[in-house]
Amino acid sequence: MTQWQQLGAYVARDAIPCGLLLSGLQDTGKFSVAKQFAQLVLCQQPATFPCGHCRSCQLYLVGNHPDLLIVQPEGNHRAIKVEQIRHLVQVLGQTSALEHYQVTIISPAETMNQAAANALLKTLEEPRGAVLIILVSHHVTAVPATIRSRCQHIQLPVPTHEHAIKWLTQQLGSEQEAAILLAMTDNLPIKALQYAQHQKIEQRNILLSQLQQLQDGTLEPLKVAATYLSGNMQELLAFLTTIIIDMIRLKFRANDHNLNNRDKIAELSLMSHDRSAVQLFHYLDQVFEAMKLIISNVSLNSQLLLERLFIHWCYQNDIS
Ligand SMILES: [Zn+2]
Repeated sequence: MTQWQQLGAYVARDAIPCGLLLSGLQDTGKFSVAKQFAQLVLCQQPATFPCGHCRSCQLYLVGNHPDLLIVQPEGNHRAIKVEQIRHLVQVLGQTSALEHYQVTIISPAETMNQAAANALLKTLEEPRGAVLIILVSHHVTAVPATIRSRCQHIQLPVPTHEHAIKWLTQQLGSEQEAAILLAMTDNLPIKALQYAQHQKIEQRNILLSQLQQLQDGTLEPLKVAATYLSGNMQELLAFLTTIIIDMIRLKFRANDHNLNNRDKIAELSLMSHDRSAVQLFHYLDQVFEAMKLIISNVSLNSQLLLERLFIHWCYQNDIS
């Protein structure tokens, strides 16, 4: 039985648990499954899938269902606050607007602190009326045990490549683009779709071309650094990491299927000719070091950090 059939069976048997914990790796589509299941539970004519036509489905589809509440960290905060859970408990204490279920999705559930978890506990134990609380978690062991023990737990697997490419091709209308994006994201379809929506292939192509030009001496490292100053540094370094690792893999004649940027093998091979594996590993260490500095949130001179990285890329043959 697939996970979706398992969820559907709860509805068919009219045995929907009050607490449902959906866990699995990040960016594997848990949140989409949670929303789809919420729609099914709220649907007035549910079958295997939500009907899509009833009043409840229509309210859901315009993003304005009065009996669905989604709780996530707000603004720049990383955690779900106790006040958000208290508000949720208060809403769940009222009656359903459509006289059916009240559904809430808490995501990621592990970001609730102990106080927030405690505030939720009583509702999980003694819900008032028909209530479904869906907890979505990437790190299930970090969800307080008191909460976990009161939920039905369903673990969602990473989709197979075959499923992922079929689904993503439907979303994007191009199998070629879907294949490139799945390779870039280690076969995580939701992340791949986000990449498509934010033109990540183009951004990676620009970076790759800049690295080539820096290597050829046709572009100034300080100019390249300046173009990234206002951007997302963590993402830049993540792309840089996959490019360097692919170049190292090509040095060791890795199977093409293991590369993140397998649509750029010709460019990567050409670039890696000029560099020894030792030089590439050395550069990778510098990228990791920069990543550590950025993640640790210490106040750092981003401009200097970027300039160093691009200068080192240019002159690596001279300095190492
Ligand atoms: Zn419906």
